[in-house]
Amino acid sequence: MQHAFTIDFEDWYQGIGLPITEWKNFEKRLHIGYDFLMNLLSKHNIKATFFILGQVFENHPYLVEEIYKEGHEIGCHSYSHPFIFNLTPDQFSAEVKKCIRAGDAFGIRYKGFRAPYFSIDERNLWALDILQEHDFTYDSSIYPGDNKRTGIQNYTKEIHQLKNSLWEVPISTFRVMKYDVGLGGAFFRILPYRFFKKSMEDLTKTRPGIFYIHPWELDEKHPKINGLTPRIRYPHYFNLSSTKRKLNQLVKDFSFTTLENVLQQQQAYTHECT
Ligand SMILES: [Zn+2]
Repeated sequence: MQHAFTIDFEDWYQGIGLPITEWKNFEKRLHIGYDFLMNLLSKHNIKATFFILGQVFENHPYLVEEIYKEGHEIGCHSYSHPFIFNLTPDQFSAEVKKCIRAGDAFGIRYKGFRAPYFSIDERNLWALDILQEHDFTYDSSIYPGDNKRTGIQNYTKEIHQLKNSLWEVPISTFRVMKYDVGLGGAFFRILPYRFFKKSMEDLTKTRPGIFYIHPWELDEKHPKINGLTPRIRYPHYFNLSSTKRKLNQLVKDFSFTTLENVLQQQQAYTHECT
């Protein structure tokens, strides 16, 4: 079975709750994680899905061009990395439109959307209608479980089509004691690799895994910022030095492709069964 390799493509200071107006004050280091990821993907002949933040199109056009040229899938990760559940529908729509315009300049049409912080949950399911109205094919923002900040408990883990025809591809989660753990990100760094691997084997017996990572997780020397809340600080900086080693092993142990490919395989299977 092939699993989805997804990258929330943003710089180290863009996903820690700081407003976009402050971003200009920080050192741009996106190329560090980018170089590692592109080498890894190329070496193992993997096409991945990059959910690119709108602002990255403006600051790093050459990276976007190379990702596109290499044949990876490009999805939308909003423009300014807000918590979507803090936005009004109009504000969310404006975020999506800005991101679409950023992609248009490169001739890119998105099929998929990933909310920053997986921040589509029971409070803002209306966001899925806005994505459908903007011609997205799928969303991959829902965290089936409780991650203390977002998530929907008891939400299905299966890829499925919504009533509005959009497909939902929930991020993979699994249970560790009383926690619903996501397949990637901070959990990938926190858990011992052997345990992570066994959990991924178990959870992918019946369905593909949806794995996620960020470029800054491969840049262990990126600066530390004072004043972050513990909820942001610990998962962001914990065990960064382990990511490269674990990722090198993960791509040997499992077979990966784009999320779009995983979805198409699922759509074909659903079609066969109906
Ligand atoms: Zn993000």
